[in-house]
Order: sequence, then C-alpha cells, then structure tokens
Amino acid sequence: MTLMTSEQLFARARQLIPGGVNSPVRAFRSVGGAPFFVKSATGATLTTADDRDLIDFVCTWGPAIHGHNHPRIKAAIAEALDHGTSFGTPNPYEVEMAELIVALVPSIEKVRMCNSGTEATMSAIRLARGFTRRDKIIKFSGCYHGHSDSLLIKAGSGALTHGNPDSAGVPASFARETVVLPFNNRDAVTAAFAANPGQIACIILEPYPANVGLILPEPGYLAFLREQCTSNGAVLIFDEVMTGFRVAKGGVQEIERIKPDLTTLGKIIGGGLPVGAFGGRAEIMDNLAPVGPVYQAGTLSGNPLAMAAGITALKMLKEEEPYPRLDRMGRQIRDTLLSATRAKGIPATVPQTGSMFSLYLSPTLVRDYATALQTDAKLFGKFFHACLSKGVYLPPSAFEACFISTAHEGSAIDRACEIMSDAVRSL
Ligand SMILES: *Cc1c(COP(=O)(O)O)cnc(C)c1O
Repeated sequence: MTLMTSEQLFARARQLIPGGVNSPVRAFRSVGGAPFFVKSATGATLTTADDRDLIDFVCTWGPAIHGHNHPRIKAAIAEALDHGTSFGTPNPYEVEMAELIVALVPSIEKVRMCNSGTEATMSAIRLARGFTRRDKIIKFSGCYHGHSDSLLIKAGSGALTHGNPDSAGVPASFARETVVLPFNNRDAVTAAFAANPGQIACIILEPYPANVGLILPEPGYLAFLREQCTSNGAVLIFDEVMTGFRVAKGGVQEIERIKPDLTTLGKIIGGGLPVGAFGGRAEIMDNLAPVGPVYQAGTLSGNPLAMAAGITALKMLKEEEPYPRLDRMGRQIRDTLLSATRAKGIPATVPQTGSMFSLYLSPTLVRDYATALQTDAKLFGKFFHACLSKGVYLPPSAFEACFISTAHEGSAIDRACEIMSDAVRSL
C-alpha cells in the first residue's frame, strides 16, 4: 500500500494536517515521541507502516470489541456495498438497527442515528433543553462527551493532555450554561439544583467515566442522580458512547439497573465505521423533527454501510455473549499489573470492569477528576514506551482507558501480560 515509514509519513502529515493528526491524542504529545502509522489491522494486532506487529489495547478507542477487520463484519459491509453507498432516503438497515438497539438497551424506546458520538451528545442535550424548555446543563469534570461547545469543559484526556481543559473558541456565555461538578459527590449535585431552581435541563454523565482513565461510581451514586433528576424535572442522560455494548449489551444501565431518560451511543454500534445514536423515552424522542420542534439532521445518518457493519457487530454480541470471557481477560491484566507494580514497589491502582481497564500510578484511590490527576503521568510515559518497544500498544496518555477484544483471547493476552510485567520491572 505504502512504502513510506511512519517517520516519513508523519513528516509529510505535519506539513498538511495540523499536528499531523486528525484527532489530537494520536499525536503522542503526552507520552513523548512520534506516532506510528498503521497500514493494516487484524484481530488483536496492528501492523505498522514499518512492518512491526503490535498487540493493540486501544481497539480504535473502543469500537473493535470483536477485534480488527472481523471477517463477518467485512462480509456485511461488502454485501451492503453491492447495493450502493448512500441513498439519501430511508433504507431497510436503519429499521433493523433501531430494532436491535431498542431490544437491547433497557431504557431506549425510540432511537435516532447520527454519525459520531459528538453528534449524539450534542443532539441529546438540545433535545433535553427543548423538552424541558430550560437552558442549563450539569456535567462532571473529567467526563468527555465529544467536542461540542457546551460539553468541552473539564472534558478529560484529549483536552487534559494538551493543557487547555477549556478549549479556546468556546464563548464564555456558552460555558456559563454548563455547570461542572465533581463526580461521586452528592452534595455538589443537590447544591447545583438548589442554586439554579427550575433551570437545569439535564444531567449528562458517563455512568462509568472512562476518559481520565477509568473511574467507577460509588454504590448508590447513579441511583441518587436518577432520583435528583426525577425530583427536579431534569432529564438524565447516560453517555454510553464508550460503555454501550462494551460492559454489557445494554451498557451500564443494564448492569446497574438504572433507567436514564436518554442514552447516547457510538463506537461499537458502528462496527468500526463512523456512527452515533441517541435514544430514550418515546415521549422525549418525539420532540425531534419532523414530529416535534427540536431540529436535528444528517446527510449520511443511517448510512447503509455503517448500519450493516454495526448490525453485524451487535448480532455477534447477542449470539456470542462474550462478556464473561472479556472480563476474565480484564482480570488477568489487572492482576498482572497489580502484582508487577507491587513487586517493584510502585504505588498503583488498576480499576477494571469487563474489557475496560486503566493504570493509575499513584497510591490514591481514584474517585473523581482531582484524584485521577494525581497519577504519575511521566512514569506512565516510560511504561507506555517500554510496552511499545516490546510490542504492546496502550493508549498514548495516562488519562485513557484501555480496551480488550475477543480476539485477544489466548496467546495475545498471555504475551501482553508478560510484556507489561517486563515493562514495569524495567521502570
Ligand atoms: C468517544 C466518546 C464520545 C465522542 O465520540 P466521537 O465519535 O469521537 O465523536 C462521546 N462520549 C464518550 C463517553 C466517548 O467515549
């Protein structure tokens, strides 16, 4: 495909694309060094432009739960391709996709497809505001919901890594409509509702925040948020772009048995193609155009290739129920990292749930953004490069979650655990 090395490609890219990348964390700024380019990916393995094979724990930032380039997903895309790439009219795949999502995600009665997680959260917030006729929203520091203006405030890894948690270009007047609170803190929520009576349209959160590493909610916290929204007439939005179909078919809401009013999805539901979706109670969803006053649209929304890929990815999860297997691999990595860091005398915690985990190099138990920031990001950078040099690719930031796919099972996971142990020993 290409005879250029990663170094040559990056040099060219930097002339043509800001920072040489189309999404900032890819630039390796927080771990140092230069990114590699990938020419192909199969199963758990990335093959770089320099012909190195790497065991991949980024999984394209979450979507690749079945591993890369799965033959069934490939076949589904090929079959859809035979019929055309986009019609600009409704197509049968959209109905099948909606049926699957409504059947599998407990709180979703109606769903609208879009093209990215960012679009999904942006639209869900507009819908919550239109439905409640209120302007303010509550989000939590460290939760990332894509890069729309209202949500790019204390937004976790990407922004953190680049040192400007509040992006330039977001008007202060927009930011004032976003109330940012610490996660896992109940008093902050009650106080925010009291300080803004009748003004809060919604609370949006990642129910398992996974964009400053992985943070788990304290027992009862999600139920508390559910109650607060109900009693204050606000819409509860679970942003399950990352956790949807990753921790369970029905996402965190299935595991924790909490029904949000709206849910945003993305990543896995696209099977590796660009997709987002938002859905929830029919009473709220029917405020969307063309039936209601809240406008939302998309030229390529419900794209047949993306739908075909996503439908197959979801059907495979239904058939295979891979979650116990994925969790076993997650625990294997957690145990490996904990015993390696303990043996080396490096304080560390390894939050893990199913196929998601992260490594915090600090003695503090992480419960929110402030405690996540206590991790030793410089030491993580060394660990990252030690892993990479031996063939394991982790997210290039101390503030990202790692992902496992079904394709890691067997030799890849065992080999990766050896490499990660060696990497800790070498620190
Ligand atoms: C990735 C992510 C988004 C944004 O999705 P994009 O497809 O990158 O726009 C939103 N919310 C969460 C929780 C995410 O992990």
